[in-house]
Amino acid sequence: MHYISTRGHAAAQSFSEILLAGLAPDGGLYLPQEYPQVSSAELDAWRKLSYAELAFEILRKFATDIPEADLRALTAKTYTAEVYRNAREGEDPNLITPLLPLEEKNGATILLQALSNGPTLAFKDMAMQLLGNLFEYTLAKRNEELNILGATSGDTGSAAEYAMRGKKGIRVFMLSPHRKMSAFQTAQMFSLQDENIYNIAVEGVFDDCQDIVKAVSNDHAYKARQKIGTVNSINWARVVAQVVYYFRGYLLATRSNEQKVSFTVPSGNFGNICAGHIARMMGLPIDKLIVATNENDVLDEFFRTGVYRVRKSAETYHTTSPSMDISKASNFERFIFDLVGHDSARVAALFRKVETHGGFDLSGGPGSDGDEFAKVAQYGFASGKSIHQDRLATIRDVHAKRGLLIDTHTADGVKVAREYATAGVPMIVLETALPAKFNETIQEALGRDADRPAGFENIEALPQRFVVMPADAARVKDYILEHTGL
Ligand SMILES: *Cc1c(COP(=O)(O)O)cnc(C)c1O
Repeated sequence: MHYISTRGHAAAQSFSEILLAGLAPDGGLYLPQEYPQVSSAELDAWRKLSYAELAFEILRKFATDIPEADLRALTAKTYTAEVYRNAREGEDPNLITPLLPLEEKNGATILLQALSNGPTLAFKDMAMQLLGNLFEYTLAKRNEELNILGATSGDTGSAAEYAMRGKKGIRVFMLSPHRKMSAFQTAQMFSLQDENIYNIAVEGVFDDCQDIVKAVSNDHAYKARQKIGTVNSINWARVVAQVVYYFRGYLLATRSNEQKVSFTVPSGNFGNICAGHIARMMGLPIDKLIVATNENDVLDEFFRTGVYRVRKSAETYHTTSPSMDISKASNFERFIFDLVGHDSARVAALFRKVETHGGFDLSGGPGSDGDEFAKVAQYGFASGKSIHQDRLATIRDVHAKRGLLIDTHTADGVKVAREYATAGVPMIVLETALPAKFNETIQEALGRDADRPAGFENIEALPQRFVVMPADAARVKDYILEHTGL
């Protein structure tokens, strides 16, 4: 299996070669030359597998240059009940991503797929935990080191740190805005005492942190010498790891491959739902893929109108589902590549237009850039939007009717799923975080605290390990230099 760039100018590469890479050299995103197909017989055989075995079967179709025995060991080590131990009472942690029935609507069952039982209580652990093990394995084989530099406003940074802690050959330098994360998120990251984890609290906002990462990455000589890498959401291995739970959700919800299911996905950077699109392209019987956005509705606008219009910083709202507060969707280019029939010259032109004109228009209307919006429904896509009042109402309603607490992002998903539920097709909503992470809004909705999984009770009281620094790329570079010994 070889990987190509959506913009067509990069040489084909193997899975291991792109594992540690971000963007392709031509600015595009990596995709496999073709999507491997899954037969009905294979799907049936997979019904009996554990999560780890299923992950192996799917990964081996993509990571063809990693010996199978090694890949099997890596997936077995990643997907254990020990790692995904934060299941609710009554959920079986051995299922890794248990399905919970939520309600009946218009004759359709709405189910919740619990993806947030990992160490940081958000779905990003599903992929990041595998990435940590894949990185360690690959670096050891090549006798190399990697210094991961990232910026976070919460979920990504903690998922990366918990995946990389204690890993040989890897250090993590994570920038976060000083005193701007929630007490819980801060404690999750700063209480880690592992020597290879460096928390840098920057005196500024999240954008300042991101600017520093860009400035350091643009110093190519420094980047090469200090072996700087990233783990952002465009990483291909993260997307593949996410494909696994769509298969898992389907297999848990059905008895035969005649049955179709739909998924609703709380979306920001289009990474999670992109994995659903790939599962569908591989032959998984998915009826609809519903994109749920919050007030930051870049994606909802596209899937309603065919117009992709990225937002400026001033038009990007800070909401109570903050992990979906995006101005452009960094993984969206992968879907557009499929939508325009793998025409990489067109993809390059469309995304150049995003830089120069702030977007593109595939509606087919006068002056538009194409008419492919007409084909979007063939790929199963539809969308909806949920705002703060919807989140509060949905959290209250699910709690009252079902006695279940859901987080704000998942609430956006449930609100939109209800608009699309149809008889005979189970609707699976992906639970992207546990409510303990966003307790402020649970308090606002219900006047009570979210339950905390065991071990998190007093996390804010643990000793914290971090340094405070001005928003200055030169200072961050010096700090990395001092701590890598390179
Ligand atoms: C990252 C995140 C999302 C958005 O996922 P994308 O892959 O960026 O679409 C949604 N909910 C939570 C809790 C997240 O952490």
